[in-house]
Amino acid sequence: YQAKRQKLPVCVFEPWMERIVAEQLHIAKRLASAIAEKQLSLHFQPQVDLHSGRLIGAEALCRWHDEELGQVSPGKFIPIAEERGMVVALGSWVIEEACRQLAAWREQGHSMPGQLAINIAAQQFEEDDLVASVLNRCAQFAVEASQLSLEITESGIMENPEKAIAITEVLKSKGLGLSIDDFGTGYSSLAYLKRFAADKIKIDISFVRDMLTSDNDRVIVATIIAMANTLGLETIAEGIENQDQITALLALGCAQGQGYYFDRPLTAKEFAERWLR
Ligand code: C2E
Ligand code: MG
Ligand code: MG
Ligand code: MG
Repeated sequence: YQAKRQKLPVCVFEPWMERIVAEQLHIAKRLASAIAEKQLSLHFQPQVDLHSGRLIGAEALCRWHDEELGQVSPGKFIPIAEERGMVVALGSWVIEEACRQLAAWREQGHSMPGQLAINIAAQQFEEDDLVASVLNRCAQFAVEASQLSLEITESGIMENPEKAIAITEVLKSKGLGLSIDDFGTGYSSLAYLKRFAADKIKIDISFVRDMLTSDNDRVIVATIIAMANTLGLETIAEGIENQDQITALLALGCAQGQGYYFDRPLTAKEFAERWLR
């Protein structure tokens, strides 16, 4: 048996694999220049109070339209940026643009309730100047640190939990909000969660999507909400697409949500027209 196994090739390099590597490299090159030339944009998705439907904040989501590749989804380009060491530069642009947009809405006479959430990649947490660069951008655009909230994924935290815990304490002391994104998918330990200075947990879209049809997912959502309550954290559900999900979430004690049911991620102009006063 062993002899037979040893005869098996360990790895076959097929032509299609080479094509995928070449395609990734091509996308990476175009992304690098899009970041350098600031050709990305931000869209904004409302976050609402599930009881009243009122706006309580928004999440900034990065968008990239490339002349040759067309619209590329962040699900595709963020991992490439992460693998090729470009996500810190991308993230720094996102922080700048988020502050610029908050200032622009203010100058247009709009008031943005709550906080604007931005997604922060694990690699950004490794940078020693993350806190300083966020605060500098806030100062540059006369935005209060408390108008911003940072979202880091549960799995991102677990890449270097001690570092994440240390940096989040500083962020919190400066007034920034902090949410754990995609919660329930990252295998974090309760011991870390307790020490991590988050104020909100975002229940992952996959559980919200299936909570009405799967008992398991419903139990997971209920457990996340109960655990968050115990730790004194707020919860927000991602990916709400219908009223039945809202009813179920409210019954379980989650009063904040985000999803296509309320609105898709919108351009800054659309967001202001539809959601800001
Ligand atoms: P995320 O932070 O968990 O964002 C939520 C994603 O769910 C967004 O996808 C949003 O458009 C989508 N979504 C919102 N409501 C619904 C819904 O009702 N149904 C469904 N099916 N989807 C919904 P998007 O914009 O494609 O972003 C995907 C991921 O890319 C984000 O997940 C985040 O991890 C990452 N990402 C986006 N922008 C940035 C960024 O500026 N920096 C970093 N580091 N990551 C980003
Ligand atoms: Mg997010
Ligand atoms: Mg998420
Ligand atoms: Mg996600």
